Amino acid sequence: MIKVCKFGGTSMANSKAFEQVKDIILSDENRRFIIVSAPGKRDKNDRKITDTLYACYDELVATGAIKENFQFIRDRFHEIVTQLKIDIDIEPILDRTESEIIAQKSAEFTASRGEYLSAIVMAAYLGFEFVDAAEMIRFDSHGRLNAEYTDDKVKTRLKDVKHAVIPGFYGRDYEGKVRTFSRGGSDITGSIIARGVKADLYENWTDVSGFLICDPRIVPEAKPIKQITYKELRELSYMGASVLHPEAIFPVMKGKILINIKNTFKPEDPGTMIVPNDKYELVGNESIITGIAGKKDFTVISIEKSMMNAEVGFIRRVLSVLEHFNLCVEHLPSGIDTLSVVIASEQLKDGVLDDVVNEIRENVSPDYVHVIENISLIATVGHGMSRRVGTSAKLFNALAEAGVNIRMIDQGSSELNIIIGVANSDYQKCISTIYKAFF
Ligand code: ASP
Repeated sequence: MIKVCKFGGTSMANSKAFEQVKDIILSDENRRFIIVSAPGKRDKNDRKITDTLYACYDELVATGAIKENFQFIRDRFHEIVTQLKIDIDIEPILDRTESEIIAQKSAEFTASRGEYLSAIVMAAYLGFEFVDAAEMIRFDSHGRLNAEYTDDKVKTRLKDVKHAVIPGFYGRDYEGKVRTFSRGGSDITGSIIARGVKADLYENWTDVSGFLICDPRIVPEAKPIKQITYKELRELSYMGASVLHPEAIFPVMKGKILINIKNTFKPEDPGTMIVPNDKYELVGNESIITGIAGKKDFTVISIEKSMMNAEVGFIRRVLSVLEHFNLCVEHLPSGIDTLSVVIASEQLKDGVLDDVVNEIRENVSPDYVHVIENISLIATVGHGMSRRVGTSAKLFNALAEAGVNIRMIDQGSSELNIIIGVANSDYQKCISTIYKAFF
């Protein structure tokens, strides 16, 4: 059995967290490949190492040196090494890192050094081999991951390795330059390594005991989700539920590897299991709904034209206007003689909305174009809903009783998700009403 474990920033923040991580790893010899983030905040007023490294880069560009910010990084690593009496000479490693940052003058290289140093120190602490992610993870010149090449590299590099610590967040491109994923990207590294070594389990250790059914700021009693399928998770993360980087799902999905979100500070909690559809088991008579997530601030442009269904190319012409303005479309609910496009309002600022509406008028000569702003989208996700009658009835009844006016409905053909649009002012009420209706 092989387990790949990724530890996030809070799990690497100080010597106490390092001790906790060591206990977890050594308590199970299947925990063979360890991916680490850079140390995060020790308390809420602290600075993350990665944020400080980005500040180093700004300092370098502005002054040609990285004195002030790099001192903070030195102090953090010194503190961990000294307090844990780790057998490593960290000083020359920090000196070399500082010179390399100055010489390379690259934001991505600079940002990657948090994970690099963190993995070197953790490897020494555990007595595991340090394997640099740059040897395995390959990006193209546009900064996109070359998944297949990387997978091969991971397989060959780790074939005979028993235990290793690998830095998260970065790899390199074909010219040898270090490239990083987007923020929170160590989750993706963990997922890539899990796929490459054909792990039985990818444990993602963080500071919460798994995904909650919905945002606890809205429903304080929201319980953790015990099991969720990859696709459900994808829907919820798309709608803003964060814990795991949204892109981290793809490599493990290919290898059908289970992910367990676990809490470093409460290792006994079962956390959330993320599984393929065919491995999902309904525990007892659990709810048909897995989770609820939402995002605010969308604009719905509703286009009405009689007999639009008989007009060849109608939708294409509408979409070409959106493409002309370089707009991403979130949803396209349609009805008889109506088509709505849902766009993040952020993209329609500074007069863009008016220009888009005018161009749609010119391009497709609609009967009406109606714009609704300040809309929130709320996704109620559960793969069980396709097999049960009455899920949407329950949802809509509950919202009607609570007096929430539904402005838009979109149930994708996957039957995994019912997305509704409500006024921003109804956002919280809508989520808590759905939670109460199903849990
Ligand atoms: N250290 C990086 C960040 O703060 C990557 C990670 O932690 O996953 O975004």
